Amino acid sequence: MAASLIPPRPTLPALREAAAGCQACPLWKRATQTVFGEGAVRAPLMLVGEQPGNDEDLAGHPFVGPAGKLLDGALEEAGIDRREAYVTNIVKHFKWEPRGKRRIHAKPDLVEITACLPWLQAEIDVVKPVVLVCLGATAAQALLGRDFRVTRQRGQFVPSSLAPRVTATVHPSSILRAPDDEARRAERALFVADLKKVAQALSAA
Ligand code: SF4
Repeated sequence: MAASLIPPRPTLPALREAAAGCQACPLWKRATQTVFGEGAVRAPLMLVGEQPGNDEDLAGHPFVGPAGKLLDGALEEAGIDRREAYVTNIVKHFKWEPRGKRRIHAKPDLVEITACLPWLQAEIDVVKPVVLVCLGATAAQALLGRDFRVTRQRGQFVPSSLAPRVTATVHPSSILRAPDDEARRAERALFVADLKKVAQALSAA
């Protein structure tokens, strides 16, 4: 567990520095670097995804690849200033499998997620977001319970000790995987609709 690495009275820079050397689960071995969360220290909104992807692993920053670009556009369309958002992931190292020369995303397992959660909890403790949004089933089930179903409960606010308002929607990478343009447009519209509810919650806070 990463808990023993959390510095006393942590700040975001201190957490980022400590997480850079984390070896609390095996994922660090095959990843380029720890990809810690980024955003303002008192960001009212925290967006929590699953794990860094290939682009994020190489760049060392969360949500900088195609899914991150889709997220940026959807936030803008929903009327949310990107600077209001602290973006992070449940798991801070890229888990992948080789396919030819490419590194393909592999889902983190429960042991890896559990090992990494103290970092996210520390980020939440420091940032204290007003609204927390889980992006995708992995984040939602890790934070809201194994029974949470994004397909059924997306866009609903649920009681949680993590933040005053907590909800979940799909991960933007799932929109990119839609089978055709029409499906992608429809999925993106639903995503923006969920984010508009988040914008309302932020403005009501
Ligand atoms: S995935 Fe999380 S717990 Fe595992 S080594 Fe990386 S930072 Fe540590």
